Amino acid sequence: MSDYKVPWIDLQLRFQEERDEIMACLERVLSRGHLVLTEEVGAFEAAVAAFTGARHCVALNSGTDSLMMALWAAGVGKGDEVIHPPVSFVATTGAIVHVGATPVFCDVGDDQLIDPAQIERQITPRTKAIMPVHWTGRMCDMPAILDIAERHGLIVVEDSAQSMGSYMNDRHGGTFGVAGGISFHPLKNLNALGDGGMMLTDDDDIARKVRLYHNHGLRARDDVEVYGVNSRLDSLNAEVLRFRLARLDDVISKRRRNANLYRELIKAPEVSIPAEKDNCRDSYVMFLVLAERRDALKAHLEAASVQTLVYYGTPLHLHDAAKSLGYGQGDFPVAEAQCARVLALPHHQNLSEDQVAYVAGEVNAFYGLG
Ligand SMILES: *Cc1c(COP(=O)(O)O)cnc(C)c1O
Repeated sequence: MSDYKVPWIDLQLRFQEERDEIMACLERVLSRGHLVLTEEVGAFEAAVAAFTGARHCVALNSGTDSLMMALWAAGVGKGDEVIHPPVSFVATTGAIVHVGATPVFCDVGDDQLIDPAQIERQITPRTKAIMPVHWTGRMCDMPAILDIAERHGLIVVEDSAQSMGSYMNDRHGGTFGVAGGISFHPLKNLNALGDGGMMLTDDDDIARKVRLYHNHGLRARDDVEVYGVNSRLDSLNAEVLRFRLARLDDVISKRRRNANLYRELIKAPEVSIPAEKDNCRDSYVMFLVLAERRDALKAHLEAASVQTLVYYGTPLHLHDAAKSLGYGQGDFPVAEAQCARVLALPHHQNLSEDQVAYVAGEVNAFYGLG
């Protein structure tokens, strides 16, 4: 399938494994003949509510939309500042910008997650919200963040795009703040056939607003309450996602097994691997290590037919799009240093233990071990 001995992801192989069930999902929905806002979407929302413990789940077109709508419905808009980390996918910042608010960055800690100890110095009279990102599916320090928010009268909206299946203190990611947004992008571990997302909240008003807004503001077919957008998750994807949700725990446990194998087998002190904290269960959407001489290591692995990706080489405050925000090199030294070292190793559920051992061996060999 893949040209690599160890591919970073193998969605074609995954389709072969699930072909019969996926085709049955498509057959079921297509034969009923209704493709949007159907019972399949409601059934998937109910399944995610049961899985996460969130009171309301609204299925949407993407994780980005879920973040944007969560911010909007929580009352974040023009003149408001939202504090978030520079280590994320650009959609975090984009969601803040698109509700009219101003993105404010806060550096990360050694764990690549927003550093609660640095949040307070970013707070101004205009700060409205904190948007922690559970990057790679590892949970931010939510008790500390909620405490800061409460003391300063701020709301917390979680970028839980990668935290489907992540827990802290047995509580699911995206259920700590007033709302959270999840992504079902093909590279997330609960993945749609294309784009998809879900907004989680316990707040009745936020849920009602997002439900209205995601379907043109329609109260009924011929009755518009507000001007909204079209951001519906289609029924085909809802049915496939509901099938895949039942397999999510299995996907995560295989990814965890592979990550733990890396932790055991990579001996090079030049490579630092984040631990799974005692009070957390990580979703393992990605497996990022911080490596000395990252680019040379990547080239070495490429030559050994191991596919790796850099997630990401540029911290969010240093993109051209961020120019008007006035940040520069050196503003967030921890994030900047990590971006120069970060590398995503292949750890997906379709890898064998032998493949993981092969990658670990090549990593060690690069640093002159074994
Ligand atoms: C994937 C991702 C998003 C965006 O989700 P989409 O479904 O691709 O729109 C936002 N934030 C983070 C941290 C992500 O990983």
